[in-house]
Amino acid sequence: SSGSDENDVVVIGGGPGGYVAAIKAAQLGLKTTCIEKRGALGGTCLNVGCIPSKALLHSSHMYHEAKHAFANHGIKLTSVEVDLPAMLAQKDNAVKNLTRGIEGLFKKNKVTYVKGYGKFLSPNEVSVDTIDGGNTVVKGKHIIVATGSDVKSLPGITIDEKKIVSSTGALSLSEVPKKLIVIGAGYIGLEMGSVWGRLGAEVTVVEFAGDIVPSMDGEIRKQFQRSLEKQKMKFMLKTKVVSVDASGDGVKLTVEPAEGGDQTTLEADVVLVSAGRTPFTSGLDLEKIGVETDKGGRILVNERFLTNVSGVYAIGDVIPGPMLAHKAEEDGVACVEFIAGKHGHVDYDKVPGVVYTHPEVASVGKTEEQLKKDGVSYRVGKFPFMANSRAKAIDNAEGLVKILADKETDKILGVHIMSPNAGELIHEAVLAINYDASSEDIARVCHAHPTMSEALKEAAMATYDKPIHI
Ligand code: FAD
Repeated sequence: SSGSDENDVVVIGGGPGGYVAAIKAAQLGLKTTCIEKRGALGGTCLNVGCIPSKALLHSSHMYHEAKHAFANHGIKLTSVEVDLPAMLAQKDNAVKNLTRGIEGLFKKNKVTYVKGYGKFLSPNEVSVDTIDGGNTVVKGKHIIVATGSDVKSLPGITIDEKKIVSSTGALSLSEVPKKLIVIGAGYIGLEMGSVWGRLGAEVTVVEFAGDIVPSMDGEIRKQFQRSLEKQKMKFMLKTKVVSVDASGDGVKLTVEPAEGGDQTTLEADVVLVSAGRTPFTSGLDLEKIGVETDKGGRILVNERFLTNVSGVYAIGDVIPGPMLAHKAEEDGVACVEFIAGKHGHVDYDKVPGVVYTHPEVASVGKTEEQLKKDGVSYRVGKFPFMANSRAKAIDNAEGLVKILADKETDKILGVHIMSPNAGELIHEAVLAINYDASSEDIARVCHAHPTMSEALKEAAMATYDKPIHI
């Protein structure tokens, strides 16, 4: 490898932040090396995150539809069965193909790929213990830390990835548990809970806070929780996990009310701990070169992604901000644009968020709660999919579009969508909000009929005037 020659850019970590930064740097004409310890590119997202979870969400949704929805469409099935090994294999195949695809992109763009564990020797030298047992030193004028995040457990809970699993174990359970307890009602817990619930597990979600997905708009959240409850997901909110005992056959979970009170014991075959993620910098020797982190271990950077150490940058899950793959990618591009003497830009207020359950929930911009807190005067425009012709035609009319627009100027401040395809529908709103559009701008754009996107147009009409179809 040419890894020991001087590079313009060295990226530590081949996740969505790191691999995108490496490709973009090479495209900008910079000599670039990317170091990844996993033996496969794509990071958490591609190997044990976004992609495998979406594969299982889709497979389990198809099974659920075949069992519960096909009959409504006049399709009779005599029996429907899950072949779990085959379902897991299709997920693993998707992951394998995509990781190899990134290796192909590295070759195409002439990014040098070093497989191994990187640690800082100095602000422009990284020592790599390579996967094949060797060691090499990679030098670079600019070094980008893109080492991402790792699963976080709770005090007193040891993850064994068999009976007490993280999201990683929950992507590969060898059988469908009869009872699954999910600790933490964030999007990862709800997505993985949905997968196993659809495949037949009885799912209980235990959450310390009073609400599921706290960042979500409150009105949307209420409808979302009701929808999940209709799918038989049970919620124990304001509930604290006291201890977890996996010594017997299954797992015993002792819980108590968050504000104190009587303890109860729950039993499960598998417990999924999805209580958040933590920045991953272990073994990097950041202290050696004096890179500053915050109390939570996140690397502190300025608006150019530069740390306090000259020549050392950081992007993605390892720095403060939303821990999302597309945010990491935006960081990566902007960071190398700065390095190349251009101008990068990421607007963290306009990063969309999607929960890939059924229905999906997608949002961009402010929630109603945030606007109230900030004292902003706003109007609300809503449109339910019950009044959308396409949603009715396909018998999938759960959910709504909610638009929050400035009371004076009609500028769009936030858009929240709950619908089966909300994660795709949201991007019209993401574009609009990035161009400072008013809701009338959306309302006056011709939308194809019959589409679910028309619900966004109608919700936009509802903010400053009246919708047509309700
Ligand atoms: P990572 O993807 O964590 O990549 C960092 C890489 O660096 C890793 O491959 C690691 O092996 C490597 N590394 C670390 N230290 C070293 C070292 N010293 N030397 C060499 N290599 C090193 N986000 C979304 O946007 N949408 C989703 O649908 C979504 N679903 C998710 C589902 C699950 C179950 C999980 C766990 C996460 C999900 N996420 C999702 C979050 C997403 O995976 C992360 O935000 C994203 O991967 C962050 O990218 P990153 O490049 O910063 O870090």
